Amino acid sequence: MRALVLGGTTEGWALAAACAAVPGLEVISSLAGRTRAPALPVGAVRIGGFGGVAGLAAYLRAEAIDAVVDATHPFAATITGNAAAASELTGVPLLVLRRPGWTERPGDAWHRVASLGEAAAVLPALGERVLLTTGRQGIAAFAGVDACWFLSRSVEAPAPPAPRRLEVLLARGPFTVEGERALLARHRIDVLVTKDSGGSTAKLDAAREGGVAVVVVDRPPLPASAAAVATVEAAADWLRRGSAGACTSG
Ligand code: NAP
Repeated sequence: MRALVLGGTTEGWALAAACAAVPGLEVISSLAGRTRAPALPVGAVRIGGFGGVAGLAAYLRAEAIDAVVDATHPFAATITGNAAAASELTGVPLLVLRRPGWTERPGDAWHRVASLGEAAAVLPALGERVLLTTGRQGIAAFAGVDACWFLSRSVEAPAPPAPRRLEVLLARGPFTVEGERALLARHRIDVLVTKDSGGSTAKLDAAREGGVAVVVVDRPPLPASAAAVATVEAAADWLRRGSAGACTSG
């Protein structure tokens, strides 16, 4: 059985590793190609876009793919929609692997918003010094917020348009609570902005301790047709059962 794992995430990487030794299962990991020196998953890897739904469907047919796992980031909504549409077109079963989102804990007072634009709109009322952890691609949404000073943390440098008062911090996780606490204190951060990516809560824990306001951007919804699991283990099981002849479409 040949499986395509749409990755670019820790989960995609871990899924390829978990499947590496499964007899009769070949995994091809796909990365978008956004990062210059990505940590490559084990096994076969292809890099770059497919060319929309039609391109992905053509790839699934040409490569005789038997199953697809969409292990992309919860905010990578375009590729997730394309995977659902290509699965419907070709009949190749699709499973979405999505880590759970975050939930508030006692002591939290999050401001949940639907988009980066909404996050930008609420910021001036919450504080002046902002830590942005929404990724370099989202920084344009904050370009017009002159009332705030921004520390933007991302793996690679953001491109304009960007906020006028901006300091860029290039860093790749994982981050620790101690490190996040020190960062918030060093830059006298009033507000943390994050997408509801799920995973490590280090920055949220540090913000709670430090009384830093938190703006959380909600996830885009999954396509209605998509079957989803929350763990790498569940996705690996689905592929293992598929390699034994039981993968079913969502
Ligand atoms: P997106 O907006 O959903 O997708 C834009 C286009 O990029 C897609 O239409 C597709 O091009 C291509 N693409 C995306 N993921 C791909 C993959 N795994 N393999 C091949 N092509 C892919 O995606 P995005 O938000 O820019 O994210 C790009 C990558 O970064 C994803 O792999 C995602 O897992 C990872 N990532 C995203 C975020 C985030 O916050 N969005 C955070 C961490 C990691 P075609 O239409 O040409 O096929």
